[in-house]
Amino acid sequence: MKDDTKKEWWKNPHPRCKPSTRVISAGYEPEFSEMSAKVPIFPTSTFLFKSAEEGERFFRLYAHPEERKDGEYVGLIYSRMNNPNMEIVEDKMRMLEPGAEDAAVLPSGLSAISSAILALLNPGDTVVYSAPIYGGTEHMFDTIINKFKIKTVPVCSPDISEYRSIIEDNGDSVAMIFIETPTNPTIVHTDVEKIVGLAKEYSKGGRKILVAVDNTFFGPVFQNFFPLGIDLCLYSATKFIGGHSDLIGGFVLGNKNDIHTIKSFRSNIGATTDPFCCWLLSRSLETVEIRMKKSAENAQKIAEFLESHPMVEKVLYPSLLKPGDSQYDIYKKQCRGSGALISFYIKGGKKEAFKVLNNVELCRLAVSLGGTETLIQHPRRMTHAEVPEEICQATGITDNLIRISVGIEDADDLIDDLKKALESI
Ligand SMILES: *Cc1c(COP(=O)(O)O)cnc(C)c1O
Repeated sequence: MKDDTKKEWWKNPHPRCKPSTRVISAGYEPEFSEMSAKVPIFPTSTFLFKSAEEGERFFRLYAHPEERKDGEYVGLIYSRMNNPNMEIVEDKMRMLEPGAEDAAVLPSGLSAISSAILALLNPGDTVVYSAPIYGGTEHMFDTIINKFKIKTVPVCSPDISEYRSIIEDNGDSVAMIFIETPTNPTIVHTDVEKIVGLAKEYSKGGRKILVAVDNTFFGPVFQNFFPLGIDLCLYSATKFIGGHSDLIGGFVLGNKNDIHTIKSFRSNIGATTDPFCCWLLSRSLETVEIRMKKSAENAQKIAEFLESHPMVEKVLYPSLLKPGDSQYDIYKKQCRGSGALISFYIKGGKKEAFKVLNNVELCRLAVSLGGTETLIQHPRRMTHAEVPEEICQATGITDNLIRISVGIEDADDLIDDLKKALESI
């Protein structure tokens, strides 16, 4: 429990408690802020030094955190480099990914992904990644990452032998395997334990293949991968973590060294998250578990309703998987819940799908996901409009596919809404 005699207790509060308990007090020492019960906002660009010597020391420790003496106070310098609200939200986020040594907050999910790749990889390296991947990530790989001579190679199947042959084809250049699981919008799981095993097998001669997982869809509540040996966990905090559709943000978590490199990179390119956004995220992290569980409970009921509806051809939702399916085994092994995203094929094509989208009232017609409100969209013509036709064909992103991000409203109300929209066809 809280041990006030221990220096910086808030960095590791209540070590024997569960993440949902620890996140409440992590990162924040009320004695630094007039005993304010909740985290204040620190809208300042710069911080005062008590002496020139102190300023010199803070700069030294910022660049060389390993030189810090036991119990030495490390002050703040300038808000592009660090700010209380950044540090508080990073400590809170670390509680929710057990096994992560440190976290870096970034101004968006894409800046978290691009910073991790550009800070840790070099020209000539290759990233092998699961496809389909979030559309913005795909576009960033094609337009930015490749320009810096880092090759990106998609793997269009969760089959581990496909990963193996692509790693073999790319020789020693493979420096990262980047996995989004489950995928968007087709909810396909990749076996992270096997990917970690593969990365170990092909890491040789002092070079290590990093395993990075975009955990936006199911993390941090329904799956955590540090215990399986991943190196980096990435988030769009815009989604479930922020959870109120009122901010854009991101996180990278990993070991101390990698996160230090990413934090230096972030500061050098100026990818700083402002204090207000960090404060909103600190607020949101306290409720992420209760929100995600309620959304998943609703999603379960909606998925069952959709599966029984005569206008619906097929529903993609993890708890509907059947034993014997290889996806079922991966889902059972690495997930603790089914999440809040449902994709479903309706009988018909674009015309029928659009009819449903235009006839819902409670489900809001918008992209994004993970908010308190239910959102509905058409992947082929919206989020995945720019994905090449052959990838859409290969992965089942067709014109009769609809995706729903289920919110925390009453499930029966949402079911009535969808029932009415399906009847309009
Ligand atoms: C939204 C999203 C991103 C990008 O995040 P932004 O916050 O919009 O930059 C990355 N990965 C996944 C899985 C996402 O859903």
